Amino acid sequence: MNNKASNKLQDLQYFGEFGGVNPSISDSSTYTFISAKTMFDTFEGNTEGCYLYSRHSSPSNLYLGEALAAIEGTETANVTASGMGAITAVILQLCDTNDHIVSSRTIYGGTYAFMKNFLKKFDINTSFVDTTKLEMVEKAITSRTKMIYCESISNPLLEVSDITALAKLAKKYNIPLVVDNTFSPLSISPALLGADIVIHSLTKFINGSSDCVAGAICGTTEFCLGLKDVNKGAGMLLGSTLDSLRAASILKNVRTLHIRMKKHSENARYLAQNFEKDGLRVVYPGLKSHSGHQTMKKQMNHEYGYGGLMTLDVGSLENANALMESMQEKSLGYLAVSLGFYKTLFSAPGTSTSSEIPLEEQKEMGLGDGLIRFSIGLDNDIRRTYKTMKNCMAELKILGK
Ligand code: PLP
Repeated sequence: MNNKASNKLQDLQYFGEFGGVNPSISDSSTYTFISAKTMFDTFEGNTEGCYLYSRHSSPSNLYLGEALAAIEGTETANVTASGMGAITAVILQLCDTNDHIVSSRTIYGGTYAFMKNFLKKFDINTSFVDTTKLEMVEKAITSRTKMIYCESISNPLLEVSDITALAKLAKKYNIPLVVDNTFSPLSISPALLGADIVIHSLTKFINGSSDCVAGAICGTTEFCLGLKDVNKGAGMLLGSTLDSLRAASILKNVRTLHIRMKKHSENARYLAQNFEKDGLRVVYPGLKSHSGHQTMKKQMNHEYGYGGLMTLDVGSLENANALMESMQEKSLGYLAVSLGFYKTLFSAPGTSTSSEIPLEEQKEMGLGDGLIRFSIGLDNDIRRTYKTMKNCMAELKILGK
């Protein structure tokens, strides 16, 4: 199904100002007009193809947006200065004071903190529910609900959302389904499954080189233009604009995303399968033992695999910390948050990326303090990696030799 989307990406072809194979970078914050009338019309949003000011729009940002819309199969896409810049703009565009959100309870800690704490300023309340249980989602919907929010594969528990079913429910109540697809670009195409808005932290797999933060909002032309509205647009007015130079560098990395995603998935699956055989508590959507395996199988674009994220629960924070330090020492990767890098990244989410979530709630959702989240890298010889990881665990007596 996604073949169409990746072909669309493949078919994008730009020419730079001097015939270069990369589009020219728009290195300007403001743009001139020959006629004052055209400037006025551009302000009013009535002129296509005219640039006004780079917080509103720039050629480099539009090129990157076009590539992301092709990946997600949406009409268009806006790019932002971070994933959080995308998430906050979408929420504030859709919700007014006293509105309500139904969100998955297992989401990125920053999104959780924004919904739970920051939105209080506007009396916007969020019901955090287990979105894998549709009846719980439906029960939480009220007349003030303005969106259903989930991650296609959740951070950090790797729960798989049934996007088709959630989209059907959202349509029944005439509210948008907003899906953060950061963990599964190309593997899952939420918009093609019925989601209304797809968000990305480009910081992760899509850029893939851990050298910047950026985000994207993929959706209809109407919604994305609304975000840029000079009077009411959350994108324009909150100002989380991506710099053109960075947009140009991300666009170059997007071109290898399909190759990288296949390798991330292949490596993560190999490790998950072998660690499961070794008796470790491993969670990976590609394992039959994963509660969302069937859902993932049903909705994924198979050629890209089950993704590069896996978790291991090694029983205690002491074990987790010792193992991560030992792996870093053996050059297996970095003890660092984030994901989608060419090297493996590992962190204990309870004390890092999900630390915004109170301890009792972490426990309730099954986020133990011995849980390590791995973003598996592009290692050429994953068998060697597996052996070295196993040795680290054996030395720490987490696993018998
Ligand atoms: N969404 C998910 C699933 C994430 O993991 C993150 C960051 O870790 C974000 C959004 C936020 O993205 P950024 O750090 O680019 O603002």
